Amino acid sequence: MTSNANIVYLDNNATTRVDPAVRDAMLPYLSESYANPSSPYTFARAPMLAIAQARRQVAALLSAEPEQITFTSCGTESSNTALHSALRARPGRKSIVTTSVEHPSILRYCERLESHGYNVTYLPVDRNGQLVLKELELSISDDTAIVSVMWANNETGILFPVREAAAAAHCAGALFHTDAVQACGKVTIDLSDGLIDLLSLSAHKFHGPKGVGALFARDPDLLSSYLFGGEQERGRRAGTENVPGIAGIGKAAELAGAQLREHPADIAEMRDAFEQTLSGACSCLLTGTQGARLPNTSHIVFPGVEAETLIHLLDFDHICCSSGSACASGSSEPSHVLTAMGFSRQDARSALRVSFSRFNSSHDAEFAAGRVVEAARRLSGKHRC
Ligand SMILES: *Cc1c(COP(=O)(O)O)cnc(C)c1O
Repeated sequence: MTSNANIVYLDNNATTRVDPAVRDAMLPYLSESYANPSSPYTFARAPMLAIAQARRQVAALLSAEPEQITFTSCGTESSNTALHSALRARPGRKSIVTTSVEHPSILRYCERLESHGYNVTYLPVDRNGQLVLKELELSISDDTAIVSVMWANNETGILFPVREAAAAAHCAGALFHTDAVQACGKVTIDLSDGLIDLLSLSAHKFHGPKGVGALFARDPDLLSSYLFGGEQERGRRAGTENVPGIAGIGKAAELAGAQLREHPADIAEMRDAFEQTLSGACSCLLTGTQGARLPNTSHIVFPGVEAETLIHLLDFDHICCSSGSACASGSSEPSHVLTAMGFSRQDARSALRVSFSRFNSSHDAEFAAGRVVEAARRLSGKHRC
């Protein structure tokens, strides 16, 4: 095994480190407390109670009720189930409105729906990556079953006006879903006003384990099962519960809530220091700074620099960051988010995403900024990049 003590991990929008307290909360269900939570004997009580506790913890992070939370296997399953459920709940309606910058878990699912005869509108974004609410309102009709708009973009960190989008959906009798996988744990999410019908989240994006997610439903009767089998999750999600994972997402939610309350500015300070060093030293373009964005994400375009090469140079210094979404890497296609924002295909290949977490230090931010500046200068072939 290689040591990763000197890794500078700045790819926290791809996945995050499991918090040691989360791992500790999971361990009993990977060792002595292995009963099936549905079993009738006393030995099954601990795992059953662990699931109930996790449901309360996730609900608390969202200012929601425990009954509104259904556990799934990932953010992708949550979002697929949300769209599937909405189409069942509005059977006469054949249209879906979403944005062109969603995560593939929405975009690919919508493409499937199109091949099954549904009409999907993929709303554009403006040069700043922002949704134009007027266009959203105009695209919703009485044929719209669901409007799905992400809370925060995974590549740029840009936040969308989900409340306004939800209100517009409701005006036409449509349901509203938001992919909050990137927002969850990074910005305060309060669902107590009942505006949002469906919301997806995923544990591994906020220091929980991989392979467990949750779907919030304002009205749990809105949900249509996607998997058929046992009566787990009150018949809404068949399959024996991932008890260790669920205990982990619960603990991760509790810790994320504490971080947001007690240290709301720490991560943004690191990110801002990183950006300050960068913009003082080279002519790069920071994306999304005109409006609201996630506190942890820095998205930078270096005109004339191939981002893939930049990432390889940073890798020599054990700095982990990405050119956009992890799901798209390996393909030479430019980012769909950047092309939607009007960047040329060339510039869309020149973007670096650096995403921080509470496990980073200001030293990480300083070190990375210095290396990024050096690498970008080298690749642009100039003394000043
Ligand atoms: C990571 C991510 C997902 C997918 O979550 P998984 O748990 O990996 O399926 C969905 N949406 C956004 C915005 C993401 O960043």
